[in-house]
Amino acid sequence: KSARGGDPGGDSHAGGANEGRDDVLRVEGLTKIYPDGTLAVDDIDFSIRRGDFCVIIGPSGCGKSTTLHSLVGKIAPTEGAVVLDDEDITGTPTYQRDIGLVFQDFQLFPHLSVEENITYGLERTNVPVDVVDERLENVLEMMQLHELRGRSPKALSAGQKQRVALARSLVLEPKLLLLDEPLGDMDYKLQKRMERELLRIHRELDTTFVYVTHDQTQAMRLADQIVVMNGGKVEHSGPVDEVYDRPRTAFTAAFVGDSN
Ligand code: ADP
Ligand code: MG
Repeated sequence: KSARGGDPGGDSHAGGANEGRDDVLRVEGLTKIYPDGTLAVDDIDFSIRRGDFCVIIGPSGCGKSTTLHSLVGKIAPTEGAVVLDDEDITGTPTYQRDIGLVFQDFQLFPHLSVEENITYGLERTNVPVDVVDERLENVLEMMQLHELRGRSPKALSAGQKQRVALARSLVLEPKLLLLDEPLGDMDYKLQKRMERELLRIHRELDTTFVYVTHDQTQAMRLADQIVVMNGGKVEHSGPVDEVYDRPRTAFTAAFVGDSN
C-alpha cells in the first residue's frame, strides 16, 4: 500500500519522514471551535502508523480530549478531516467508525453485569452469536475477568473496572483503540501494573492504540510514536526517540525534558 495525498515517493527508510509508512489514520487540518467560541484545536495535522502505540501528550487544556473525541465522532469538527484507511470518516456516525474509546471514568453500565457490559455493543452488530461467544471468552481470558463475569460493576475496584472497559472495546475488534487518560485516577503502583497490561495487550492484538496523557514519563514508557500538543496545536509528531532526542520546538524540549 502506498502513501496517498501529500507524501511523495514510496521508499521506506528508517528515520525518514512519512514516506512509505503504512498509516492507519490521518488527521488533516482538524479544527474545533466550541459554541462558546473556545478554539480548542487549531488546524492540526498528524498521522498514526498502523500497529503503533501512539501517545498524545500535552498540558491540561491543550486539546487532547477534543482531538480524541473528534476521531471517534463524539465531537463534530469545525473544519478538517479524519481519514481512516484512506476513507474520509469525518461525517460517519460513531457506531460505524470501527474506532473504540475507553473513557477515563470507564462509563460502564451499572445495571448490567461485567459480561453484559462486554457483549452489549457486540450484540447490536450483526456478528453471529457463536462469534460473540468466542470473542467474549477470548477477552475474558486476556483481561483475566472470568471470575468477575457475573458481578456488577459497582462491586469492582478501579483496576477491575478498567479491565472491563478495555474488554468492552476490544471485543469489537476496532481498527483503532483510543484511551483518554485511562489510568488517571489510579495510584502509582496500579498505574504501573496497568501499563504493563496495556503493553502486553497491544503486543498480542493487531490493533493501533492512541493513548492520551499529560504524564510524559508514562508516554516514555508506552509510546512508539508521540504527538506533542500545546494550546490547540501539534508541536511535534514522530517516533519517540526523535521527539526526545531531537525535539523540534522549545516547548517540546522543555515539556519532554521535564520527565525526571
Ligand atoms: P485536554 O484534554 O488536553 O485537557 P480539552 O480538549 O478537554 O483539553 O480542552 C481544550 C480546550 O477546550 C480547553 O480550553 C477547554 O476548557 C475547552 N473545552 C473543552 N470542552 C469544551 C466545551 N464543551 N465547551 C467549551 N470549551 C470546551
Ligand atoms: Mg482531557
